Amino acid sequence: MTMTMSQCPICKKWVFSLHRGPHVCPPKWFCQEAGGLSDTVMYAHNAETAAIKYAEQWDADDHPLLQGETVEIWVCEDPTDEAEPFVKFCCSGDTIPTYYAREIKPAEEDKS
Ligand SMILES: [Zn+2]
Repeated sequence: MTMTMSQCPICKKWVFSLHRGPHVCPPKWFCQEAGGLSDTVMYAHNAETAAIKYAEQWDADDHPLLQGETVEIWVCEDPTDEAEPFVKFCCSGDTIPTYYAREIKPAEEDKS
C-alpha cells in the first residue's frame, strides 16, 4: 500500500491518505490588518493561530516582521455580526540563526 498526500483545496492543509475518516477543515476566521477593509479567510483552530497565519502571508514580500517590525491584525469569526468584536493581535516574527560546519578535507586545503 502506498501512502499519498493530498492538499485540501479549501484550507490548504496536507492530508495523508492513511488517515482514517474524512478530513475536516479547521474553523474559518476572517483576518485583516488593523482598520483594513478586506477580510482574508484563514483556517485555524483558534484566533491566535489565524492571526499568525495571516501575519506570515502579510510578511511574505519583503519580510518587515522578520526585521523587527510589528503589525496589528484583527480577527473575527463572523464579519457580518456587528455585535462580535474583533480579537486584536500584535504580530511579530523571528528568524532562528542556523550555523553550518563542513569539514575541509586535506586534499582541498592543498589546492588553495
Ligand atoms: Zn481542509
